[in-house]
Amino acid sequence: MQNPATTQIPRAEHSISRADISENALKVLYRLKNAGYEAYLVGGGVRDLLLGRKPKDFDISTDATPEDVRKLFRNCRLIGRRFRLAHVHFGPEIIEVATFRGQHDGDQGDEGQIVNGMIVRDNVYGTLEEDAWRRDFSINSLYYNIADFAVIDFVGGVQDLKARQLRLIGDPVQRYREDPVRMLRAVRFAAKLDFNIEEKTEVPLTELGYLLEDVPPARLFEEILKLFLSGAGAQALELLRRYNLFGYLFPQTESEFNEDNGPVFLALVEHVLRNTDQRIAEDKSITPAFLLSAFLWGPVSALRCAYAKRGMSEQQTLAAAADKVISGQNQRVSMPRRFHPAIREIWNLQDRFAKRAPKRSLRLLKHPRFRAAYDFLLLRAEVGEVETELAQWWTDLYEADEDKQKDLLNQLGQGQRRRRRRKRKPE
Ligand code: ATP
Ligand code: MG
Repeated sequence: MQNPATTQIPRAEHSISRADISENALKVLYRLKNAGYEAYLVGGGVRDLLLGRKPKDFDISTDATPEDVRKLFRNCRLIGRRFRLAHVHFGPEIIEVATFRGQHDGDQGDEGQIVNGMIVRDNVYGTLEEDAWRRDFSINSLYYNIADFAVIDFVGGVQDLKARQLRLIGDPVQRYREDPVRMLRAVRFAAKLDFNIEEKTEVPLTELGYLLEDVPPARLFEEILKLFLSGAGAQALELLRRYNLFGYLFPQTESEFNEDNGPVFLALVEHVLRNTDQRIAEDKSITPAFLLSAFLWGPVSALRCAYAKRGMSEQQTLAAAADKVISGQNQRVSMPRRFHPAIREIWNLQDRFAKRAPKRSLRLLKHPRFRAAYDFLLLRAEVGEVETELAQWWTDLYEADEDKQKDLLNQLGQGQRRRRRRKRKPE
């Protein structure tokens, strides 16, 4: 039986056109339909099309089981344990096909497990309507039916889209407990779509950050990438901090924000995020390592000061602080190993920039990580963490032809000698 509030919006009354849906998603929808299954476009695809935005990917919901889907598509892989689904591969494009989920109370054996209110396994299948009610936000629970091109709304999602608000389906506290990542998703969609968070959905956010401690660090990494690489990273940071969530993701960084140098490190992170947003808007490439090196620079710098007071050399302080900060971070949000060398190198090169030794400077320009480290130096200068003059010098050297480079390096030799002599004078 359908909920009385259920609405069907026929093709003529909504703006979704097949021309805006990826050909591959259409192929999957039609093949499911022709095999006798129900098939709907759902989630971000429907939401973004109704908003006139370009969807990032297309998710499909069906009554076919993952095994049924695999039988229909050669290019199909079944993935996930917590939430099993089928990925249909078309070159670089992946269409995600999920079977309708049903309500469960954690008693359905292996396939539906709830531990301390948290859903740890969600593989109990159900009906279309049940599927709609267990989704996160009402605006993510709209279904585009390939059989008649109507949009089906069980949960008031169309109204919320019009009001530009995010509303969790059901009791917000319970829904956050079931899956604390929904708090991060609330922030991500509010930032990315520039939506308000409806009051009942918003209020618990401030109190429930601690639930994130139970989320596997690898899953949190996936989420923070989406948060900060969605094109609205600066806004995401602001909301995460407003709701006391950021400290559960980057505890060392948050605590450094509250120290004496906090405003500078916060400005650095904000700056990096604004730049990232801009680059995404311009379709330029971005590297997570760059972002992460900026996020963790505050804690690394502070720890280095502490180590230096204990008599460690400059090089030792960096290596030791980097080890400690990276491993501390990995306990909350695990950064895959492949990013560690780049993060460390961006940091290492900052020390080498400060030295400006003539021959080494030229070698540094050819370092494979020069560009990222140099961009980082520029950001540090912009927020006043290093002298603008140092950044300008590197800019001049980087942009100069060979002759001009020689001049710069010669002048530098003279300047440095003078400085050193002065330093040696007794006070
Ligand atoms: P994006 O534009 O980032 O792809 P999306 O809404 O499509 O946004 P996905 O992570 O692709 O997000 O998930 C697809 C759909 O699955 C969501 O729209 C939502 O209906 C449902 N969903 C995803 N994660 C959850 C969750 N943690 N709890 C409940 N439903 C979820
Ligand atoms: Mg999606």
